[in-house]
Amino acid sequence: MSAQVCVLASSSRGNATAISFDTSGRFILVDAGLTPRGVRSALSQAQAVGSFHTLRAIFLTHLDRDHWSPAWTRQLNRAPVPVVVRAEHAEMALRLGVPKHCLRAVRGRFALGETAQAEAVEVPHDDVGSTAFRFDCESGSIGHATDLGAVEDCLIDAFNGLDLLSIESNYDLALQQASSRPWFLKRRIMGGRGHLSNDESAAAVARLAAGGTIRQLVLLHLSIECNRPAIAVEAMTAAVPALAATMVVSKPFEPSAVLRVRRMQENAATVPADLAALASSPLR
Ligand SMILES: [Zn+2]
Repeated sequence: MSAQVCVLASSSRGNATAISFDTSGRFILVDAGLTPRGVRSALSQAQAVGSFHTLRAIFLTHLDRDHWSPAWTRQLNRAPVPVVVRAEHAEMALRLGVPKHCLRAVRGRFALGETAQAEAVEVPHDDVGSTAFRFDCESGSIGHATDLGAVEDCLIDAFNGLDLLSIESNYDLALQQASSRPWFLKRRIMGGRGHLSNDESAAAVARLAAGGTIRQLVLLHLSIECNRPAIAVEAMTAAVPALAATMVVSKPFEPSAVLRVRRMQENAATVPADLAALASSPLR
């Protein structure tokens, strides 16, 4: 049994990552910035429809347009699955079209049926913050952090002992400063509540990789205008050379390969089965 991760798209034009915790074909989405049709087409482009055929839940890091497409409202009314948000985002989620009967507002750590545990961690982003998610299942631990202006100690603690880490590496400082973007936008992005630069992301990954468990690294949400994959890879390779060989750089409009997650640590996390299983529903 192995968990699988496929980044379907990652940029300010739309973000979505599919994760399955076993080989049943049931999967979750982290962010739904692609339309349901976009998700289907990315899965088929990745030749991953077999591994990810039944959507069981959507986890939203936050409600910006590139992470939540309003096209999901209709899909969810027709084929409801839980939409998981941090409690502080619940009101906004309802306002932006998440059907009330789908909404699950969470705090901290919670069980995902019998197959996995999840944890929602607040990270600084604009006024309302974004949410980093940690998932633990039998075959490994996965961390997903995007749209964060800074990496605080609480995130480093929450992401301890991961096997696969997906984290944004949004911009190159020099390209950002030289860009024609208005000063208020640059200040928003670089001011600690926007996005992580390549160097900030690399510093965070170095801290997280010090534990020695991370075997796969995925760079998310590279700015199309103010970053280049080669520059991001160079910064990351300098900080964590051991991960260079397996590093994956997500693309704005193209899915990644399907990445298999295997646990490095001897003691697999035990997953409590005390909470109700999340509903599942085919992705039509
Ligand atoms: Zn974003």
